[in-house]
Amino acid sequence: MSYLPVAAAQACVFEHVVSCVPEPVALYDVLGRVLAEGVYANRNHPPYDVSAMDGYAVRFNDISGATSAEPVLLRVIDDIRAGQMPGLRVLQGRSARIMTGAPVPAGADTVIRVEDTELDGDTVSILVAQRCGTNIRPLGENLRDGEVVLKAGTTITPGVLAILAMVKKKEISVFARPSVAILSTGDELEGLDEPVDDNKIPDANSYALMAQCQALGITPVLLGIAHDNPIEIKAKLTEGLKYDVLLASGGVSVGHHDFMRPMLEELGIQMHFWRVAMRPGHPLAFGTSAKGTVVFGLPGNPVSSMVCFEQFAAPALKRMMGYQKCYRRTVTARLSHDLKDREGRTHFVRVALERDATGYLATSTGTQGSGVLMSMALAEGLMIVPAAATSLAAGDEVIVQLLQDMDFQMEAALER
Ligand code: AMP
Ligand code: MG
Repeated sequence: MSYLPVAAAQACVFEHVVSCVPEPVALYDVLGRVLAEGVYANRNHPPYDVSAMDGYAVRFNDISGATSAEPVLLRVIDDIRAGQMPGLRVLQGRSARIMTGAPVPAGADTVIRVEDTELDGDTVSILVAQRCGTNIRPLGENLRDGEVVLKAGTTITPGVLAILAMVKKKEISVFARPSVAILSTGDELEGLDEPVDDNKIPDANSYALMAQCQALGITPVLLGIAHDNPIEIKAKLTEGLKYDVLLASGGVSVGHHDFMRPMLEELGIQMHFWRVAMRPGHPLAFGTSAKGTVVFGLPGNPVSSMVCFEQFAAPALKRMMGYQKCYRRTVTARLSHDLKDREGRTHFVRVALERDATGYLATSTGTQGSGVLMSMALAEGLMIVPAAATSLAAGDEVIVQLLQDMDFQMEAALER
């Protein structure tokens, strides 16, 4: 098997994952989840034409010539508050005081805001005319009874959640989250709860992967550490295959003590690829079991494991949870320094981002070795250097995959 290009490997992963079965979840807990059902409006909203302003409901024909120099005088016959049904019809030469959200009374077709009027006893002077229908929100402007208001596949943002509340959806069918197990492998590894042994390597991958899952809203199960022996690895893998997704790191290469792939194959996992043309990254094994468990054999080097998770496992998990958009956002940036690169594999370079008037500026966060976690910890993005590129110069345009969402553009945007 040869090295698979990143895009082909991503396509292969998507071919082999399906969305999880839907589950009912209470409105209080659905933020960020994905709708598995279409949602219909169960009423018109607003239920009648309502006023968008505090003011006076009038007949436009009466006031069409009004100006501040020549106001139109109308008698005020009613005072209508939100939640109150008007009893009187507005006849020619009359008006009704009306509050924001209150139903527009019969006869009236326009609302003049209170700032454009003057009240004297029970007579109001209208100082401007505007257009017929001004300041009226029509029946059904927000929701129309019986219409689909939200489609299956919609991500539940706070705005979507507000609509769910309006249509009284107290329980919503959303795609379930996959169960995920995480396994680290290697004789040299030291568990978080074990005493420090200078000759060992602390297990970082279990926790990096745990956090990456948590960032997607998934609470994974940690299976701990398996030593580099086939029996132990097989036992832990068997345990891991009970979950929807198994993330196992280390031992996936061609070393003498790398038992991951042969053991997965022995357990009936069909391997779809195990080498991807990327740096950091390869080796990366991907397979599925007959009953649908998805297995990622991630590289042992911590940064490789994290970068592979971002490119392959995170999109797969998002697809399983029903998201339509499964990849992280990318931006164009300029490189702040020269960069030498080797041809042949897509390179994900850890970068920090700054912004100036012309856009983003990307700067390497330091040594890019696949075991150097510090440059990953400092990274705000992964710069994607195409497989064909050999060297980049300061000022070159590059694509950066964002690892974080926040930005400092607001101030500049407000000042424009
Ligand atoms: P492997 O893929 O098993 O050949 O491991 C590659 C490198 O990653 C070795 O230097 C391992 O010590 C290191 N490594 C493997 N698993 C972990 C882990 N869970 N945490 C930290 N480093 C690891
Ligand atoms: Mg190893």
